[in-house]
Amino acid sequence: MNSEKLIKRDEKYILHTYARSPLALVRGEGMTAYDAEGKAYLDFTSGIGVNSLGFCHPAWTAAVAAQAGALQHISNLYVTAPDAKLAKKLCKRTGMDKVFFGNSGAEANEGAIKAARKYSVDRYGEGRSKVATLVNSFHGRTLATLAATGQEVFHKDFGPFPENFVYLPAGDFDALTAADDGTLCAVVMELVQGEGGVVAQDADYVHAVADYCKARDILLVVDEVQTGVGRTGTFLACQHYGLKPDIVTLAKGLGGGLPIGAVLMTEAVAAGMGPGSHGSTFGGNPVCCAGALAVLETMDDAFMDNVNARAAQLRRGLAALPHVTAVSGLGLMVGIQLDDTRKAAEVRAACEKAGLLVLTAKTRLRLLPPLILSEADVNAALAILKDVLEKD
Ligand SMILES: *Cc1c(COP(=O)(O)O)cnc(C)c1O
Repeated sequence: MNSEKLIKRDEKYILHTYARSPLALVRGEGMTAYDAEGKAYLDFTSGIGVNSLGFCHPAWTAAVAAQAGALQHISNLYVTAPDAKLAKKLCKRTGMDKVFFGNSGAEANEGAIKAARKYSVDRYGEGRSKVATLVNSFHGRTLATLAATGQEVFHKDFGPFPENFVYLPAGDFDALTAADDGTLCAVVMELVQGEGGVVAQDADYVHAVADYCKARDILLVVDEVQTGVGRTGTFLACQHYGLKPDIVTLAKGLGGGLPIGAVLMTEAVAAGMGPGSHGSTFGGNPVCCAGALAVLETMDDAFMDNVNARAAQLRRGLAALPHVTAVSGLGLMVGIQLDDTRKAAEVRAACEKAGLLVLTAKTRLRLLPPLILSEADVNAALAILKDVLEKD
């Protein structure tokens, strides 16, 4: 089928909840995606931070295929090997104690909110259930995670929402103390707000919040759905901030392209979540866990050194491009602020025509390249961006 037919069928049968590009991709290899006519696109989106190892990495493809041919699913009523192996690796790498697996970022955050409320109610009684999140945050599209998302635009027309969520302006420590009426059970935050425009939190603010929470047994939940699994140059963005939260959520980059979410928690939080307290039919699916294991096994020290070297190269190059006024984010989670003469959405579309896939977040251009990118890939992307930005 050619692109025109693929796009026509998509328009007729897929619910129009996404503003899609008129681009039909059928195949990928490494950093490159190909459309139905065979045109190549250098991918600096990684499927919104998902394809950590690029398209069809040999180790990942082999691990997924082998698991699909051995045991694809059996339910959480029985013990399987891949989920516990993955959980062990995640705990060793993050210093957390226990893992719950779901299938997406939103589900991971739902699980985190449930675990935080359970912890608080068990210790302090019914009603200590208020959850504070940050203004401009993004935590998912389910009703509870929408309630947790501090952006009005996502709420309109979908209420009523689960209760007891409050939004704190990032950086405003006094807003936290004002919101704490004794019923606060958790503070949830992204260390770099992704959908909110690639905005990194101020370290002093983060530490002030963490210290305040610790002193009052309010749980700190860090949503690393986008920042986690090597994206920012460390396995967790928490490491940049020297932070040890009570709960960390992961998803996007974890499965290398398969749907998996994870709630990582301390032993103390895990203690409240006994049999029957939470679940997911597909959670811990062996094939998804095998994919995630291939991601973690590939992500060794040399791999992370490359992530950091490419991030530095990319950021240096971007800062020197015409019409770029600021480069935000951390590691390979990159926001690009443009001057008033350039619109991010138009630059994105022009890059696509020129064979480079990029994203936007709010008014910024956004880059989330696969973590396997080479020096030459960065140079190629910078050259296309320069060309596009120079054109009137
Ligand atoms: C993408 C994202 C989510 C939602 O993940 P889904 O897999 O789409 O449910 C939650 N939190 C953050 C920080 C995200 O970037």
